[in-house]
Amino acid sequence: MKKVLITGAAGFLGSHLCDRFIYEGYKVIGMDNFITGDKKNLHHLEPNPNFEFIEHDVTQFVKIEGKLDYILHFASPASPIDYLKIPIQTLKVGSLGTHNLLGLAKAKNARILIASTSEVYGDPLVHPQTEGYYGNVNTIGPRGVYDEAKRFQESITMAYHRFHGLETRIVRIFNTYGPRMRLNDGRVIPAFMGQALRGEDLTVFGDGLQTRSFCYVDDEIEGIYRLLLSDYAEPVNIGNPHEITIKDFAEEIIKLTGTEQKVIYKELPVDDPMQRQPDISLAKKLLNWEPKIGRQEGMKKTFDYFKSLSKEQLYKSEH
Ligand code: NAD
Ligand code: UDP
Repeated sequence: MKKVLITGAAGFLGSHLCDRFIYEGYKVIGMDNFITGDKKNLHHLEPNPNFEFIEHDVTQFVKIEGKLDYILHFASPASPIDYLKIPIQTLKVGSLGTHNLLGLAKAKNARILIASTSEVYGDPLVHPQTEGYYGNVNTIGPRGVYDEAKRFQESITMAYHRFHGLETRIVRIFNTYGPRMRLNDGRVIPAFMGQALRGEDLTVFGDGLQTRSFCYVDDEIEGIYRLLLSDYAEPVNIGNPHEITIKDFAEEIIKLTGTEQKVIYKELPVDDPMQRQPDISLAKKLLNWEPKIGRQEGMKKTFDYFKSLSKEQLYKSEH
């Protein structure tokens, strides 16, 4: 059996990746320190003999016994509110954490895929964003801790590839959503759905004319899985190109949830990108991949998940 290490396993994407690799017949080691993740996301895998969990902070030396075929490095705070709250850990997990995992990959002769992000494009001046665009990032702004950690992560990964001949993959993930997002993580979908469920007004930041393009988690995982098994070492955008303004998106959520609340406007966070849409031509050509699940279907599944949470989870406030 092939063996895979997934960091950030107790998080949103990490837990879905664990499910996918178990389904595909791998032995999976999940690793997490629970800084933004939740044990509950892995609860269903605990009885599975092919799943093992190690609680560990990947910014510290990472030790794994025996062979390893693949590493997927997904550990990192991912929501703007999280990385504003824990900026140093965010920088460390993208830099020191990535260095540790590249070292482990080298020692085990394993292939490693790292989770990069559309945030490497910053507030983009090229639209839609192609992999060839170098980005527009404010290095010293509050979001810089995440963006620059991820840019460093890409650089050190390419250095290990070029200098050590390590097999590396880089996925640039665009806004992804679905079940197991943390209700209070501050990202726009859990924020709006939580507000609708609690009977609060929906908070649109700025004038709401900024855009995002949302990808359902199953599509994202499929793209990541195909990229890992491909032979392409440079970054690949994986996301859904259907773009929408945040204002229109709030209206869509009001319709979907049936809430009688309205939209209210709050201050736009510093350096909030004004537009974002992936150009996925490369993924289409290389991986024969494109998203299949539309926003209506994906949002319904996500809302069903949030509706199923307990009152305690719904009202738990972290921020
Ligand atoms: P998440 O917060 O749900 O999961 C991240 C996980 O990493 C959490 O379980 C957290 O506890 C863990 N973690 C953080 N620091 C750690 C450390 N030092 N050691 C061990 N574990 C640690 O976030 P997510 O949405 O699942 O994102 C996962 C990855 O995908 C991140 O690297 C993120 O940058 C990337 N990404 C996600 C999106 C998205 O839309 N979800 C978009 C772009 C990039
Ligand atoms: N946003 C919003 N209201 C909220 C949360 C977010 O209007 O309650 C906006 C945010 O300013 C950004 C977009 O929604 O323009 C997406 O934010 P998110 O935090 O989900 O991810 P980002 O793409 O900014 O990393």
